[in-house]
Amino acid sequence: MSSTISISADSPETDAVAVRGACPHDCPDTCALVTTVVNGIATEVRGNPQHVHTQGVLCTKVSRYTERTYHPERLLYPLRRCGPKGSGQFERVSWDEALADIAQRLQAIARREPQAIVPYSYAGTMGLVQGESMASRFFHKLGASQLDRTICSSAGGEALTCTLGGKVGMKVEFFAQSRLILIWGSNSITSNLHFWRLAQQAKRAGARLVCIDPRRSETAEKCHEHVQLLPGTDAALALAIMHELIVNDWLDHDYLADYTLGWEALRERALRWSAERASAICGVPAAQIRSLARDWGTTRPAAIRLNYGMQRVRGGGNAVRAIACLPALTGAWREPAGGMLLSSSGMFPVDRAALQRPDLLAGRVPRTINMSTIGNDLLRSSSPQFGPKIEALVVYNSNPVAVAPESGKVVAGFDREDLFTVVLEHFQTDTADYADYVLPATTQLEHWDVHLSYGHTDVLLNRPAIAPLGQARPNTQIFRELARRLGYGEPCFAEDDESLCRQAYGSRVEFSELLERGYATLEVPDAPFAAGGFPTPSGKCEFFSERLARQGLDGLPDHVPNYEVPIPSGCYPLAMISPPARNFLNSSFVNVRSLQQTEGEPLLELNPGDAAARGIASGMVVRVFNDRGEYRCKAHVSERARPGVVNGLGVWWRKLGLDGTNVNQLTSQRLTDLGRGPVFYDCLVEVEAA
Ligand code: SF4
Repeated sequence: MSSTISISADSPETDAVAVRGACPHDCPDTCALVTTVVNGIATEVRGNPQHVHTQGVLCTKVSRYTERTYHPERLLYPLRRCGPKGSGQFERVSWDEALADIAQRLQAIARREPQAIVPYSYAGTMGLVQGESMASRFFHKLGASQLDRTICSSAGGEALTCTLGGKVGMKVEFFAQSRLILIWGSNSITSNLHFWRLAQQAKRAGARLVCIDPRRSETAEKCHEHVQLLPGTDAALALAIMHELIVNDWLDHDYLADYTLGWEALRERALRWSAERASAICGVPAAQIRSLARDWGTTRPAAIRLNYGMQRVRGGGNAVRAIACLPALTGAWREPAGGMLLSSSGMFPVDRAALQRPDLLAGRVPRTINMSTIGNDLLRSSSPQFGPKIEALVVYNSNPVAVAPESGKVVAGFDREDLFTVVLEHFQTDTADYADYVLPATTQLEHWDVHLSYGHTDVLLNRPAIAPLGQARPNTQIFRELARRLGYGEPCFAEDDESLCRQAYGSRVEFSELLERGYATLEVPDAPFAAGGFPTPSGKCEFFSERLARQGLDGLPDHVPNYEVPIPSGCYPLAMISPPARNFLNSSFVNVRSLQQTEGEPLLELNPGDAAARGIASGMVVRVFNDRGEYRCKAHVSERARPGVVNGLGVWWRKLGLDGTNVNQLTSQRLTDLGRGPVFYDCLVEVEAA
């Protein structure tokens, strides 16, 4: 099969072709797509029924991909600012005009100080080519600042690396055969739909499902049990489970002896964590902790599906480390349906050096800006510690004005008249409003890309299904043309997108198979750590991490309390978490009308007790505030929020909110214990009727 799949003979659309692709969004499922194209127009995007992880099913959001692609507000031409920063006033310009001016202005800064230029990007597309390939080459050659891409998963990623050796875990398909599944910090129905299907299969076959989450999510409602702990207390819970495993001898002593490092030290640490001690911290009954530990210690095969929400607190890295130790204590890794999965992305043999070409730095070592502190960093002056003041920002695949923490400061930074900002985008987002130039980028239906997944182990290829809309161009083409205008003559700047797709995996994945089927399955053993073999320095599951100890950090996992722990008599007695609204994916899809209508408006979920104490009823406009700012939205009084915790569902575009702000007006720029990540769910607030 070549570029297209034939449409069945009974299709009424005789000119229809079907094109294979991949979902580009920040979701572990990385679905295989099939786009129906009639006379050059994409009429439908479906899941590929032949792809075992997709099984022909997409989530509601991406089922609407044609609505998003042909959205009447899609950016189709380059725009140049013609009003004050942030006013959203732009005029249409030609690509030549835009690229010539951008190249000239970046060049002028780079001649003085290339590190004053900062790229800002994340997972607006997860594609390896439209993400960090030609863009990285360009910024490496320029000598621009490097970006520490921490905003989502770096605490958990660092924790996995220090414990298991990388972003590795069990194969997702085997969850269907587990007898016990702990769904920890994940609303799978919303953000890991295809895993949820496997969990349902397991449930039908008699498995027990336990959800561990501060929010009574859609997933928690459908599990046998919900452990509704306080935000930021997951490590305490994991350590108390270990305590119970030890005192009841629900341990696999052989696995511990042969395939783990630091057991004696961890044992000593865990014995300090009685169920009663953890209960006082987690806000969960001691009896429930004991019963959870009994389930984990006595059920085989048993598995944990962890997601990234719970690591967005000060101690998020330690929490993931503590949880990642649990399968080794009971030898759960011995079976294919046992172990844990947070991310499988470390199993993909991506040749990032070929794509990104760090050799173009030619020995220079630019400073690194943490994307999670962009609010502070845009407001900093030049100094020996910080380096040069940021003079130019090139944003692609990200919407930092909406998604970065403490957005009051982020907005103040983007509002600087002396900051030159270029934004590559599909829509006029909150961030695009602050641009000097907005460049129209192609969507997944209009360009080549190749993908890994962080929820399964298949590589996917995305072929363009339709021609770019208007004058939209792929990110790669935009950076290629900027490189040409800056006189970069290296052959790597002339490579086309299909070549970049081929380079991503080199000979490690058969490109012909990707062309033929749209996907290729990595060869991964069914029980990858049944006999150790972890990609750590010791080859064992490292309860004690020498790497952390060398940095002066605790070598063992521990409970690290939140920065902001509520006290009932304090000014801000409520802990706020900001999980994704069901119909949005970070800030993508917020402007898709049908999804926005389903979602309604920005909501804050409050427990009935907390609402009554403040005279708040569902539907009232509330003011949510702390020292960092305030945010107005509608109250939804519901048991989805546990007492003392409010759920500010995100991430709405600021300009679509009630007063031009969103929940990140309240979040802080402090960082996690490991991985330098943001602490979105470590945030105290007070709420009152507005
Ligand atoms: S967002 Fe996730 S579930 Fe939805 S289509 Fe993409 S990969 Fe599949």
